[in-house]
Amino acid sequence: MERILSSDVVKHAGKDVLVQGWLHKKRLLGGLNFLVIRDRAGLVQVVAEDEAEVEKLRGMQVGTVLTIEGQAFEEPRAPGGAEIRQPKITVDVSVTDESPIEIDKPLSHKPENLDTLFENRVIGLRNLQEQAIFKVQAAVEEAIRQYLFSQDFTEFNSPKLLPGATEGGAEVFKLDYFGKQATLAQSAQFYKQIMVGVFERVFEVNPTYRAEPSATTRHMTEFITVDVEMGFATFPELLNLLSNLINSAVAEVWKNSENQLKLWDAKQPVLKSEFPVLTMAEIHEKYSKATGTNTVGEKDLRPDEERWICDYAAKELGSEAVFVTEWPASEAKFYHKVDEQNPEFAERFDLLFRGVEIATGSMREHRYDVLIDQLAKKAGGQPEDDGFRYFLMAFKYGMPPHGGFGMGLERLVEKIIGLANIKEATLFPRDINRLAP
Ligand code: ATP
Repeated sequence: MERILSSDVVKHAGKDVLVQGWLHKKRLLGGLNFLVIRDRAGLVQVVAEDEAEVEKLRGMQVGTVLTIEGQAFEEPRAPGGAEIRQPKITVDVSVTDESPIEIDKPLSHKPENLDTLFENRVIGLRNLQEQAIFKVQAAVEEAIRQYLFSQDFTEFNSPKLLPGATEGGAEVFKLDYFGKQATLAQSAQFYKQIMVGVFERVFEVNPTYRAEPSATTRHMTEFITVDVEMGFATFPELLNLLSNLINSAVAEVWKNSENQLKLWDAKQPVLKSEFPVLTMAEIHEKYSKATGTNTVGEKDLRPDEERWICDYAAKELGSEAVFVTEWPASEAKFYHKVDEQNPEFAERFDLLFRGVEIATGSMREHRYDVLIDQLAKKAGGQPEDDGFRYFLMAFKYGMPPHGGFGMGLERLVEKIIGLANIKEATLFPRDINRLAP
């Protein structure tokens, strides 16, 4: 008999079926015994009465791999609305060790229990609610790709082993590379810009490494960035692209992953088709006035300000996502473009969503001479340094005006689902205290 999936048992009511999967839960009550089997489509209940069959499960623990042949019946109280009765049970892979955690109940995500959650991650991910997070993540990734492909972007992959710290900063992992020093990529910044010189519109969904010594709910040492870069673009076009990308991803995910989102009681974000734009100065002013904490003149947003302005945007502007513009040029990276009309500002933005920054973007300086000048002044870099010279080559031989952004996939998924910590939206999180599993 051919194997069917748990979700299809209901369609076979009245017929013989064969399912295969893991023992997810077992209740042996004597006369009537209930098993729950998990496969890639979900769960199905099996009711066994024959003692000889039940005997095969003696000592078998959750995780045992089984083949079940039996009769399918409609049963509204069972998962999937059906169950299998009078089963013939075959133990394919026996598991006699008791599972370290109960996977058929919601796992605790309380801050004090996160370490246990990650310590048992390998098994915990077999819990359906946990799986849902990563099905949503896969769906978000898929939706992002589809949208960018629809806008004529080409996907690329850049190396993560680099010769030196390209963007500067202390947050770089250094490693020994056959006797030379190498670093792990802290972003795909240079490569995505180089690729604009090739394909105009490019993106990469890629691992990113930061030696973040902090233990926050928004930082990890390894995360996934959606890196997007667009040639012949203007600043408003960048904002427009990112608004459309998020709107499209949210709509797709709510269309295709509703069941997973329901398991977390996720609320579909309220978004404007074009996200509202506030300048940093406006935010400082509003925040200071409303809270009494004076941030006027500060060159960045405080985490509490990010939360506050998101609440404000949701209530007053009808959007749970909001752009922040007019970042001080003094704080800009050397590849950022200074606003020619207002040279005290860089043409840069952050996107805040549900209380946290999820993306940073900017127009890039594309003029070779100006770029070399900014490199020296802002980063103390020499054009001939290994970390810069190949990047600069792209500019020497012609780069159009361009800009782009980097968006953290885990932060986006965390906020879409409504989780409290970025690590909950990460399969195997890496932070200052955790390198395994
Ligand atoms: P933050 O100010 O929150 O530390 P950042 O300004 O250093 O972030 P960028 O370098 O601009 O972040 O990176 C772009 C995006 O990548 C961020 O908006 C965020 O979504 C994500 N990101 C950055 N650093 C981390 C990190 N350590 N862990 C997880 N995601 C991150």
